[in-house]
Amino acid sequence: HCFYRGNAWLIFKISVSLADKSDELNMKKITIAIDGFSSCGKSTMAKDLAREVGYIYIDSGAMYRAVTLYSIENGIFDGDISDTEKLKKEIGNIHISFRLNKEGRPETYLNDVNVEDKIRSMSVSSKVSPISALDFVRKEMVAQQQSMGAKKGIVMDGRDIGTTVFPNAELKIFVTASAEEASFDEILENVKQRDYIDQHRDVSPLRKADDALLLDNTNLTIAQQKEWLFDQFNKVTN
Ligand code: C5P
Repeated sequence: HCFYRGNAWLIFKISVSLADKSDELNMKKITIAIDGFSSCGKSTMAKDLAREVGYIYIDSGAMYRAVTLYSIENGIFDGDISDTEKLKKEIGNIHISFRLNKEGRPETYLNDVNVEDKIRSMSVSSKVSPISALDFVRKEMVAQQQSMGAKKGIVMDGRDIGTTVFPNAELKIFVTASAEEASFDEILENVKQRDYIDQHRDVSPLRKADDALLLDNTNLTIAQQKEWLFDQFNKVTN
């Protein structure tokens, strides 16, 4: 009798605490997709929001950059010409992950090697958009991104997150701003070129999802953008 009561109590306690956990871990957690043009401050907003609300932050652009770095380092390019058949064969060998550095910031790893600095170089920036236009590259990256977000509680920024990766995201933002703020000609040129290629490719081109909120941050300070994003987050989660 007592044994039964004791057990029932234990089961009750366990199920309540599991319910609490699932409530905490799943039910209130949402998926946040932030898309937009290059160099418009998406990643700063996305990172800040993720940190503040305790979500995972994923920079999907870093993943396309890592595939591009792999291609450069593994003889896929001959000048500007790429051997896409070779890349297609090797795409399954490309493993990308993110780990937090000492300051708590995520850094990109390509097959377990830290490539955070290398992927930001101009040689990668100048080749990333054509590589990102390849259907088999997108298929692989989208699958990896979807599995990273399977448990929700994620902020992902990129170009096709609201349209393709997480079409059911509870909060979608499309950021648009003038790129004129980039300070060097070479960088500005690269940003414009990438935006053009990203918008005009066949597979998952850069565009606003129909149900995404538009944020034109040309005249907003970082603090104002942050506040706006938090308001949107609170509206969806409360
Ligand atoms: O975000 P970031 O500017 O680092 O992205 C680099 C490039 O990666 C973009 O210009 C685009 O070609 C590609 N990209 C993409 N889809 C994403 C994220 C990035 O095609 N979701």
